[in-house]
Amino acid sequence: MKLTLLGTGCPKVDYKRYGPSNLISTKNTNILVDCGSGITQRLDQLGISTANIDALFLTHLHSDHVVDLYQLIISSWHSYRIKPWKIYGPKGSLKFVKKIMDAWKDERNQRINYELRSSIKAFELQVKEFKEFGTVNIKDLRIEYFEVDHKPVKYAYGFNFFNNKKKLTVSGDTKPCDNLMKYAQEADVLLHEVYIDEELKNIQFSKMRSRKTLHNVKEYHTPSYLVGKIAKISRCKKLVLTHFVPTDFNEKKLKQIVKKDFGKNPIIGNDLLTINI
Ligand SMILES: [Zn+2]
Ligand SMILES: [Zn+2]
Repeated sequence: MKLTLLGTGCPKVDYKRYGPSNLISTKNTNILVDCGSGITQRLDQLGISTANIDALFLTHLHSDHVVDLYQLIISSWHSYRIKPWKIYGPKGSLKFVKKIMDAWKDERNQRINYELRSSIKAFELQVKEFKEFGTVNIKDLRIEYFEVDHKPVKYAYGFNFFNNKKKLTVSGDTKPCDNLMKYAQEADVLLHEVYIDEELKNIQFSKMRSRKTLHNVKEYHTPSYLVGKIAKISRCKKLVLTHFVPTDFNEKKLKQIVKKDFGKNPIIGNDLLTINI
């Protein structure tokens, strides 16, 4: 199994770090986790066609994680996709996907009628909403989903991917939470989000960016001084960091802070970094 980071940023624009999304793949299978800004460009850079994606899993419905959903679907049609999309997401995904599709309905129908392509299967969306926890099998990958704590977001999930006796855990967006540590036990790779606290200590406050707004952002993420502890408790073999807030930071310093608790250096994620698991 391979993990490829497609976007390691956050809502802020950064050419090096696109919006959050990941590709989990084997020889036969391609699964996406989230579809942040720039996902189709990154897939194209990898030479992977959106026509060949087997399923899309959504961690939660924050806009930075789903903003390119329609682009993903429309570009797959343009890439001659001839199968429906399988989309798995939290409660609210059915309504969300329907609204997005409705917004573009007239434009889409005009295109379909004018361009006369042989298949419109790419616009057939099979959406399934998660329960509290469960398992989905997609070809040779088994995916386990479980709740994480991203409150006030009500429904937020992390995932375990299993293939060939290997385990990859994806944290999704979460504050430190027991459930994540429970499900991540002995993962070969733990892909975890991080809020880099020390980078944001000396920023200039303004009306738009006050102590309060910053505090609230930090409150539903995992700060850099705790992510190493989480990895240690999870007993994961490798820790890969992603979803960097802010996107620009001192890598050496971040590694040092995390290593203090984890005991090993974390891997600092970059867009298009691939990890064999
Ligand atoms: Zn979020
Ligand atoms: Zn996020």
